[in-house]
Parts: sequence; structure tokens; C-alpha cells
Amino acid sequence: MKKPTNAIDREIESSLSTGIRKRLLLHVCCGPCAAGVLPRVTPHFDVTLYFCNSNILPKDEFIRRLDALKLLLTHFTDVKLIVAEYNPQHFLQIVQGLESLPEGGARCAECFGMRLGETAEYLAAHGDEYDFFATTLTVSPHKDAAAVNAAGELAAENFGVKYLSSDFKKHDGYLTSIRLCKQYGIYRQTYCGCGFPSAARHDGDVSPPATQPRT
Ligand code: SF4
Repeated sequence: MKKPTNAIDREIESSLSTGIRKRLLLHVCCGPCAAGVLPRVTPHFDVTLYFCNSNILPKDEFIRRLDALKLLLTHFTDVKLIVAEYNPQHFLQIVQGLESLPEGGARCAECFGMRLGETAEYLAAHGDEYDFFATTLTVSPHKDAAAVNAAGELAAENFGVKYLSSDFKKHDGYLTSIRLCKQYGIYRQTYCGCGFPSAARHDGDVSPPATQPRT
């Protein structure tokens, strides 16, 4: 059998062989990505979702994505949810000067670092409640799993906690996301989170730039 190449797959194998369920703090970006990941992890871990996304603009969209996640969780009733503070000004400070870069570049690396850093910080403060953390971000075909995992590893190192690298696109993660969103009527957003790049966006224009679901 092929050896697992990332930490989450190794922990799943370990759970299968020992029968032990460890406690996973799972950073979650939205309902659609959670839909692609929860069927993979809930059979093996006790999962708590950490919705930590000050990058989502505007606030109405943040609330809409959170509501979509809550709707999904009516189908995963053993999964707990924690909502972190929403602080878009902090995000805008972090990405200042990087707004015009295309998605996938330095702005996104900062964004991953902010969200996974806050998740690692939360884990460090509640270390007796969880064994490690991971993120749903790697299920998206728009995200480079290596860049996400690099941010997760750095955050873990900074806060002295354990991060599980992943590529949730494997095992049909993205297809599962699309299927469950359709089945449960989960809202699929049309843009990543900040809506950059767009020359006008920084002066308060945060209207969504696209019209088709992309998660
Ligand atoms: S495009 Fe997405 S990942 Fe990149 S900075 Fe914006 S919200 Fe963050």
C-alpha cells in the first residue's frame, strides 16, 4: 500500500490501526470547504471547527459564510464550532501594499499566516483540549497546499503546538464538497475572501468581483 505523504493521512492510519480518536482543532474557512473535509476526518477524530477568517469582506459576507457553515453542521451534529473574533482592519493592515497582487502570491501567504497563526495561538491557550490542528484550506483547487502547509508549520513552530499537513483535495475532497453543497443547499461563494485584486476595492468597494461559485 502507498505510504501516506502528509501528517493528516498518517494520523488517520494511526487511528485506524489503534482505534484511538484524537482531538482535532480544524481551522475552517467556509461551509463548502468543510463539506469536503468533514467526511474525511470525522470518522477518525473528535473535531472542533475554528472559524477564524478576518479576511472575508464585507461583514455581510462573513455572516453569510458562517450561516452556511452552521447549516452544514446540522448534518454533522458531533462537530463543535468556535467562532473567532472578526477583525477585518487587522487583515487589511497585514496585506497593505499587496492588494494588487494576483491570488496565490504574497498576499495569500500573509493571509494564511494570519489565520493559521491565530488558530495556533488558540490551540496554545487550550492545549489540554486538543492534540493538534489542521485547516480545510487545502481542499480548494485554488489553493496551493504546499503554501498553506508552510504557513501552518510556521504557525505551529511559533506557538509550540502541532500542525497536521494535508492535501484534502485527495480522496475526492473537492468533489465531495460540491456534492454535499448541492445535497444540503449550502451556499457556495463566488470569490475567495478579500475580493482583491481590484484597484477600487481598498477604499471601501468590497462588492464581490465574480458571479459563479468557485469553492
Ligand atoms: S485571495 Fe483569499 S487567500 Fe488570498 S488574501 Fe484574499 S482572502 Fe486571503
